[in-house]
Amino acid sequence: MSYYIPSDEQVEKSLIKVLKKNRTIPSQNKLKDLVTKELTTKKRKTGLTGYRLRKIALNSGLVKLEIHTREGDPKRIMNKCPVCDSTLKRVKNLTIWGGEVTIEFRCTHCGYWTVKKKRIPTRYVFHFKKT
Ligand SMILES: [Zn+2]
Repeated sequence: MSYYIPSDEQVEKSLIKVLKKNRTIPSQNKLKDLVTKELTTKKRKTGLTGYRLRKIALNSGLVKLEIHTREGDPKRIMNKCPVCDSTLKRVKNLTIWGGEVTIEFRCTHCGYWTVKKKRIPTRYVFHFKKT
């Protein structure tokens, strides 16, 4: 029995197969199981983490990610997107007194956003985007 790490291209090919059969996948673990099954044969085991798969899925442009969250610590500083590691963009709004106030952080790569009460990702739903 060998153990191997598939390339991004191999993962993406298997991802497409999985998405064609299941247009919506209710969690990252479920998606990982299905893609791993596609990549695994009797002769080899597949090493693929959910985190890596999520990034490949996002970069493929094939998937619309639905991010479920719980509320986190408002004091926590978040510079990077917890979903895909991209830099979060500050979206500022003027207050009624004319001062500039940061109200929101947005990720332009995956669509994650948060306010002061941090939105901590707890579950990902993957939707196949029709191309
Ligand atoms: Zn992101």
